[in-house]
Amino acid sequence: MKLTTKIVIALIAGAIVGITLNITAPGVFDVLDTWLFSPLGKIFLNLISMLVIPIVLFSIILGFNGLGEPKHLGRIGVRTISYFVCTTFVALAIGMSLALIFKPGEAGEFNTTTTSDYEASEAPPISETLLNIIPSNPFEAMSSGDMLQIIVFAGFIGFALTVLGEKTKGVVNLIQQGNDIMMYLVGIVMKFAPYGTFGLLASAIGSQGLSAIKAMGLYMTIVLVALIIHSFIMYGGTVYFFGGKRNPLKFFKGFAPAMGVAFSTSSSNAVLPVSMEVAQKNLKIPKTISSFVQPLGATINMDGTAIMQGVATIFIAQVYGIDLSFGQLLTVVLTAVLASIGTAGVPGVGLIMLAMVLQSVNLPVEGIALILGIDRLLDMARTAVNITGDAACAAWITESERKRELKENTAQ
Ligand code: ASP
Repeated sequence: MKLTTKIVIALIAGAIVGITLNITAPGVFDVLDTWLFSPLGKIFLNLISMLVIPIVLFSIILGFNGLGEPKHLGRIGVRTISYFVCTTFVALAIGMSLALIFKPGEAGEFNTTTTSDYEASEAPPISETLLNIIPSNPFEAMSSGDMLQIIVFAGFIGFALTVLGEKTKGVVNLIQQGNDIMMYLVGIVMKFAPYGTFGLLASAIGSQGLSAIKAMGLYMTIVLVALIIHSFIMYGGTVYFFGGKRNPLKFFKGFAPAMGVAFSTSSSNAVLPVSMEVAQKNLKIPKTISSFVQPLGATINMDGTAIMQGVATIFIAQVYGIDLSFGQLLTVVLTAVLASIGTAGVPGVGLIMLAMVLQSVNLPVEGIALILGIDRLLDMARTAVNITGDAACAAWITESERKRELKENTAQ
C-alpha cells in the first residue's frame, strides 16, 4: 500500500476512534490517550522534529550555494517573498469576505461574560521579530529552534561558500553528504507516519468533544471553506497557469503525504523534512529551489493562519456587536499579514498572534477564549494549507527558472 493511502486511512481511523471514544467511553479514552495515542504521536513528532534543525541548516546553505550568483539569489528571493505576501492578501480577502457575508458571530448565543477570565499571552511585536533575525549566537538559535535566525545564518554561510568557490569545495561536499543522511532518515521516519498520525488525531479529536464543535459550527465551516477555496483557486491556479500547466489535482495528490502529516502535527516546522522530500520526489521540484523556498515558507508564509485570523477577528467583532469600518477592515488586513508572517510554524501560535490583530482595531482580546476550544482542530487544517502554499510557490519558481534558462540558452 502507498504511504499516502496509509496516512489517509490513519487520519480517518484516528478521527473515528477519537470521536467514538469521546462520546461512548470518555474514561477509556483517557486511559488509551495516556498509554497509546499520545505516546504514538509524541514518538513521531520527536522523530521528525529531530531532523528539522539540521535539515534547515544544511538545505538552506546548499540552497543559497546552489542558486549560484547573488543576482539569481536576489531574483528568486524577491519573487518568493512577493508570492508569499500576495497570496496572504488574497487569503485574507477570501476569509474576511465570507465572514462578512455569513456573519458567524450573529448565528448563535455566545456567552461573552465567561470570556473575561481569559488572559491573552503577549504577542511579540513585529519590530522585535524583524530586528532579531540576525542571530548574535547561531548555536543558541539552533538550540532554541529559532527558524528565522537559522535561515539568516545559513544564508550567510551559503553566500560565503559561493563566493569562495573551489577553496571550500570540501565543506560543500560535507554539507551535501550531511543533507543526504538527513533525507535518508526522513524516509525511514516516514514509515512510522501512519501510526504517529493515527495517535495524534485520535488524541486531538477525542479530547475536543463534539459539543464545542457544534456551538462553533458556522465559524468553523467558514474557516474551512475559505481554506478550501483558497487552496483550489490560488494554489491550483498557480501550478496550472504559472507552474508549467501542472494538473492541480495531480499536484494536490502528489503533495498529499506532506499535507496529511501537517494535518496531524499542526506544525509547518515539524513537517518541513517531509514536505521537502515529497516536493522533490513527487512534484519534481529541484533541490536547490525546494531548499530555499520551503524552509523560508514554513517560517513566514502562513495563508491558512491569515484566513483564521481574518475570520476570527470579524467573528469576535460580531459577537461583541462591534461594527468595523472600512478603514478598520483594512487595518485588520495589514496587521493580519504581518501577524501571519510573525507566526512561528508550531502548533497554536496563530492564535497568540491573533491578539495583535484584535488590538490593532481595539477589539476585546478576551474574545480569543470563544475560539480557543476548537482551535486545535482548525490548526490542523490551516497548517496543511500553510505548507501547500510553499509548495505551489516552489512550483512557480521552478517553471519560471526553467523558462529563463531556456531563453538564455536560445539567446546564446
Ligand atoms: N500551526 C501553524 C503552522 O505551523 C501556525 C498557526 O497558525 O498556529 O503552520
